[in-house]
Amino acid sequence: MKPDFSKGLLPAILQHGRERTVLMLGYMNEEAYERTLEEGVVWFYSRSKGRLWKKGESSGHVQRVLDISLDCDCDALLIQVDPAGPTCHTGSRSCFGDESPAPVQALEEMIRRRAEDHDSGSYTNYLLNEGLDKVAKKFGEESYEVVIAAMKGDRDELRDETADLLYHLFVLLHEQGLGIAEVEQVLHERHSRKNNFKGERKDVEKW
Ligand code: AMP
Ligand code: ZN
Ligand code: ZN
Ligand code: ZN
Repeated sequence: MKPDFSKGLLPAILQHGRERTVLMLGYMNEEAYERTLEEGVVWFYSRSKGRLWKKGESSGHVQRVLDISLDCDCDALLIQVDPAGPTCHTGSRSCFGDESPAPVQALEEMIRRRAEDHDSGSYTNYLLNEGLDKVAKKFGEESYEVVIAAMKGDRDELRDETADLLYHLFVLLHEQGLGIAEVEQVLHERHSRKNNFKGERKDVEKW
């Protein structure tokens, strides 16, 4: 599938490849698109400058391309990027404000940062220093607390224990060096399999 430039410029949304936040909207003509493919960093056609524009050409905040997808009728682009710095010229990470990453990515990032800061005295650090036994045991305890809250029908407790459970799950994943992106990939594959074989009970029942 190729983008359809027959009606002129196409909007291109830049999305952070790991954090999944929307970073910026720009426009591409065919040449900007070709250069983007060739160089692996984003080029736009700037309507105000009236010329091709490599994002980051003066700021250095180039947007390395991780993936490009097209919308249903090939007239809009969604580009996953790894930005070299703030994407917005105002200095914020996103042109749409400093929107925080999706909770799952935010949790993973937060734990990675805490784990790296050895002197922080954080609970995350404490757990990781104790090692796998401690980390795994905490996850087990929290899962049991979720079960109890659900059995009691205590909605607030269920909410709080679920937060505990997710946090401890991410500490465990960090300890094991398993990134959530790998898990997402598995979910994605299962989901597409389900859609490809609609009606096959075996696949549907998984969910
Ligand atoms: P850069 O491409 O980052 O070197 O920025 C060069 C110039 O392009 C800036 O001074 C702005 O005028 C404009 N610019 C850069 N990034 C954006 C953006 N995200 N949205 C709108 N204009 C931008
Ligand atoms: Zn479209
Ligand atoms: Zn901006
Ligand atoms: Zn708990």
